[in-house]
Amino acid sequence: MLTLKTKVNEINKVGMAIAGRLRRLNIKTVEDVLMHLPFRYDDFSNTAKIDELIAGEPATIKGVIELMSSRRARNRKLTITEALITDDTGSIKVIWFNQPYLSKMFNKGDEIILAGKVSGELLAQQMNNPSYEKVKEITTHTGRLVPIYSTTEKLTQKQIRFIAQSCLPALDNLSDWLPDTIKEENDLIDLAEAIKQIHFPENEEALKIAQNRLQFDEIFLLQLQQQLVKNALNENNSPIIKFKQDEIKEFVKSLPFTLTPDQKKAGWEIIQNMDGKNPMNRLLDGDVGSGKTVVAILAAYSAMINNFQVALMAPTTILAQQHIQTIKKLLPNNKFSYCLLTLKDALLYKGNKITELKKKELIEIIKEGKVNLIIGTHALIQKTVEYNNLGLVIIDEQHRFGVDQRKALRDKSGDPKTMPHFLSMTATPIPRTLALALYGDLDISLIKTMPSGRQKIITEIIPPIDRTKSYEFINEQIRNGRQVFVICPLIDPSDKLGVKSVTEEFAHLNDEVFPHLSIGLLHGKLKPEEKTNIMEDFKNNIIQILVSTSVVEVGVDIPNATVMMIEGAERFGLAQMHQFRGRVGRGEHQSYCYLFTDSDTPKTISRLKALVDNYNGFALAERDLKFRGGGNIYGTDQSGFGNQFIVNALQNIALLKKAQTAAQDILKTNPKLTKFPKLKKKMDKIMDRMHME
Ligand code: ADP
Ligand code: MG
Repeated sequence: MLTLKTKVNEINKVGMAIAGRLRRLNIKTVEDVLMHLPFRYDDFSNTAKIDELIAGEPATIKGVIELMSSRRARNRKLTITEALITDDTGSIKVIWFNQPYLSKMFNKGDEIILAGKVSGELLAQQMNNPSYEKVKEITTHTGRLVPIYSTTEKLTQKQIRFIAQSCLPALDNLSDWLPDTIKEENDLIDLAEAIKQIHFPENEEALKIAQNRLQFDEIFLLQLQQQLVKNALNENNSPIIKFKQDEIKEFVKSLPFTLTPDQKKAGWEIIQNMDGKNPMNRLLDGDVGSGKTVVAILAAYSAMINNFQVALMAPTTILAQQHIQTIKKLLPNNKFSYCLLTLKDALLYKGNKITELKKKELIEIIKEGKVNLIIGTHALIQKTVEYNNLGLVIIDEQHRFGVDQRKALRDKSGDPKTMPHFLSMTATPIPRTLALALYGDLDISLIKTMPSGRQKIITEIIPPIDRTKSYEFINEQIRNGRQVFVICPLIDPSDKLGVKSVTEEFAHLNDEVFPHLSIGLLHGKLKPEEKTNIMEDFKNNIIQILVSTSVVEVGVDIPNATVMMIEGAERFGLAQMHQFRGRVGRGEHQSYCYLFTDSDTPKTISRLKALVDNYNGFALAERDLKFRGGGNIYGTDQSGFGNQFIVNALQNIALLKKAQTAAQDILKTNPKLTKFPKLKKKMDKIMDRMHME
């Protein structure tokens, strides 16, 4: 009998060869097949008439086979199957390559449904390699919405569909882990029924109801997970960092500028949060340039005047060095010492003195508590580093700190009985709904407004015909001593680090457009020191134009750069481009952001226009979420949640709220989920997986 655990090769008609192909999709058991969900559906209920077909557009037609035959092409490597399909309005020629069995499968007079792109001229239209269904098959077991799955080489949609169909009986003994009360309260169908309908929906409505159930599941589980993490964290004691109001106020007064209201609010939230026995777990979210660093320093200051050590971790050496520069400016002289620890730096700053040390020596000083603030890269969490009375850890440009990384830091904090407070900072504006869903375990402080006096960066969409004019403008800027960023999109998805596209652009600019200038190239394959050197050169204006991929960290402060050129702008998310834009306009000079695009579709232009008209990262992120789904806010590579159901569910705010409430309610009445053994088992698995990652 077929069960969920049955291996795929034991399914009727599935041999070792197909099982091997399924394994490439990570499908090993019947359960895996059932959980391999379609990512879209072909709607065969909406067929077009043959005389209405438009060349270049996809269509689905329904007709009768008039002729069908296969032959070998002249080079004999190719078989061509030709058919003529007729409906009551006309006929069309259809061609398939290398599918000779088709002419045996179908007979003259069979009714067939075809879906594919129409090509050719008005009077000689044809369809090449369309997907096909016999009309009889469709109505018996696939309904009219036909599932389309992600697949692999030599595994057809038909085969996957057949295998999925064969696995359906195993759903009879699938136990639904979602408690009945929750299902009733939220109008959700059973899991088995939902999975069945997702694969073979009876109609549009049934599909929606099924998707609703699975989306609810994703969010509900995510919420539970976050709540459980939060509860577990709160079982730890943390160092109590007293809010010494007078001293904090004095420090704020000593700053070279007045804090914005949002900065003040965020600072206060953080400092108050640390004055409690539960560890802080907070995200500070604010646009590029909104002034997060000073808020972090404020938090660090509060910890240091309470005699706690503080660690600040940046994703790159360049950013760590930049933090040192800021701290030099803002921290009162002679009061606290700080140091820089990266793979190659070990520097101690005390009073006006900078001492270069051996790494070992610096690590010893940190351990003995002879330095107050430790700034660095991932070197800060390497094995050999131990802290002394560590009270606060600040992480720049990382949304979340892993539970296990956090434990590791607790163990080396100098007092393993207490868990240091955590503050992470991000410049990715996260819309509120998304933040609630994805970061339920974090408290969030927002900086929504910029310090006053910031210039508006003039943003323009540049169509191909204006390209030359823009190049002239760039030349002029550089003649006036300014510098330019060029960001290139990934053109070829297999080129994950963007080496190819960026190299081509670099060659083009270097050889043809700006041969008289010095141009730098930055991409993901470079070694860290190569990157550092190029950034150094750019910072020192030895390089005038920096060509870079988006995957490369551009989180650097180059006040002299005034032009941000974004190639292939239609390929980026708005929030992401807004971040690129934030790289210029950091100095005294008027700055510009040029969105180069070859696309002139109204959709693209209206989307890019949003960037021209809008300078608020949060608003742009909301717009991204609405139009493109959450994954794109971070650029598809970094989304971290590839699950299409989550992405869609995030756009369904009503569902989001329901799932959130359900998760909170169930934990309120039964914090360890002991009354819901099936759900508990499911959660235990999820928590285990989380710890493995
Ligand atoms: P980000 O949020 O991107 O990390 P930074 O903290 O680097 O931004 O701040 C950007 C710049 O703005 C820094 O040069 C900083 O000194 C300055 N800055 C921060 N807050 C204010 C303020 N309230 N008024 C004026 N300038 C400020
Ligand atoms: Mg910053």
